[in-house]
Amino acid sequence: MAKLEDSLDWHEKARALHLDGRPFVAGKRRDARADARFEVTNAHTGALVAELADCGAADVDEAVAAAADAFEAGSWAALAPADRGDILKRFADLVERDGETLALLDSLQMGMPISQSAGGIGAAAGILRTAGELADKGTDQLMPSAPGALIMQLRRPRGVVAAITPWNFPVHVALSKIAPALATGNSVILKPSEIAPLACLKLAELGFEAGIPTGVLNALPGRGQETGRLLALHHGVNCLAFVGSTGTGLRLMQYAGQSNMKALMLECGGKSPQIVFDDVGDIAVLADALVQGFAWNSGQVCVSGSRILVADALYDRLMPLLVERVRRARTGDPLMAQTTFGPLASAVQFGRVGAFIGNAASTDVLVAQGQTGGGVHEIAPHLFAATDGGTAIMQEEIFGPVAAVMRFGGEDEAIRLANGTCYGLSATIWSRDFARAHRVAGALRSGFVFANAVATPGASGTRHLAGEPFGMSGFGIDGGALGLLSYTRLQAVMHHLS
Ligand code: ADP
Repeated sequence: MAKLEDSLDWHEKARALHLDGRPFVAGKRRDARADARFEVTNAHTGALVAELADCGAADVDEAVAAAADAFEAGSWAALAPADRGDILKRFADLVERDGETLALLDSLQMGMPISQSAGGIGAAAGILRTAGELADKGTDQLMPSAPGALIMQLRRPRGVVAAITPWNFPVHVALSKIAPALATGNSVILKPSEIAPLACLKLAELGFEAGIPTGVLNALPGRGQETGRLLALHHGVNCLAFVGSTGTGLRLMQYAGQSNMKALMLECGGKSPQIVFDDVGDIAVLADALVQGFAWNSGQVCVSGSRILVADALYDRLMPLLVERVRRARTGDPLMAQTTFGPLASAVQFGRVGAFIGNAASTDVLVAQGQTGGGVHEIAPHLFAATDGGTAIMQEEIFGPVAAVMRFGGEDEAIRLANGTCYGLSATIWSRDFARAHRVAGALRSGFVFANAVATPGASGTRHLAGEPFGMSGFGIDGGALGLLSYTRLQAVMHHLS
């Protein structure tokens, strides 16, 4: 991939993009059977980018049949795991080869600054590479057996996995579901978000080019209420891997219950705390990290640290630094290399976040806001001071660049506030006292805990993290070597030998 500084005119490159929004099924792009269409728009300008098919029942049936046929034929599932791994590593190389296009498509559609989407391609490819490396590293078990018997516990693929993914890190999150599902021998149908589907559809093409056999990796464009719902209700889908809102996650549980009891992996909303103790060292560096922790990708991050809980002894010193940084933050055109905060992804998102900010003014104190540029969906970072952990801004996932700061007295109060929402996805602890940080981590209802680090999907090493959300953030182990097992089911086999 070209270096960012070599790619000064991203607008020029965007105009030259070849856009193909057709489904990828059974090894090729094809026109959808459905007549209905939905629009993909430019997050910065609101202009139309493309009209795509809202795939319906016939399209979903065909994709499921292609995936199931490939699974039954064993073209992928019965391949030696090491061979699957090699193909996934080749897939990773192709993601890097076409990284500029993938990053540009994501930025165009959902507004992530190009420096971040292009910078994230290496990590996204790394997900595939890691899954490829892990493909032949799992171990099955031979259990203590009586003489004349042999008892085994074997991991088998689940079959057809539908991955329903969001728009906030389109390529990254899609690969975080596709890669482990493929590594363990499943067939996959990807249904990316209707807000940013174009790069994800291309992923299926790249997988095929890398050598994934026909029908093993398919991708359908479509809206959630149509294509997503049809996949979730389909009797031929054995497992649903989802990342998105808690409301949709609850609906998927119903669809599974109304159809075939398919296995579910749900990574839903979050309202992640950043707990700041008073022994943190350089508070200027800390203030940068705290703002980064809630405002990067304009807060459209499932692990966004949007509740900043600060020790009493530090609060008055830290607050002016946070205020100053938030006031300095400026949103702008995501295709300009120097932009660090882009627009919100869509008009709907813009309206939602704006309403949260408006309502919060009646319960909490707005202490700082940044500056906006000229885009149609821009909301600059906003910082509120909260005195009550129960207000909407302290409880609800906003999915925008909005944080509330609240003070706490002692460790117990910090833990109580941190655990005081229905969510439990991620938490950050800022403290130099290792024993305390580790003690607090153990008390947090949080699937992922970061100590002295911003929760950053894709940061070096994070692909080895495996965790499982608490509460209404979902369930199912995600990430790392253990995360691969979520895409398998355990089969016990007993041989009677005499
Ligand atoms: P967000 O509000 O962040 O867009 P959603 O949960 O609505 O999050 O979207 C995440 C993914 O879930 C998208 O791919 C979307 O199309 C899909 N989706 C939304 N509603 C449904 C539904 N009723 N059934 C299946 N998938 C859905």
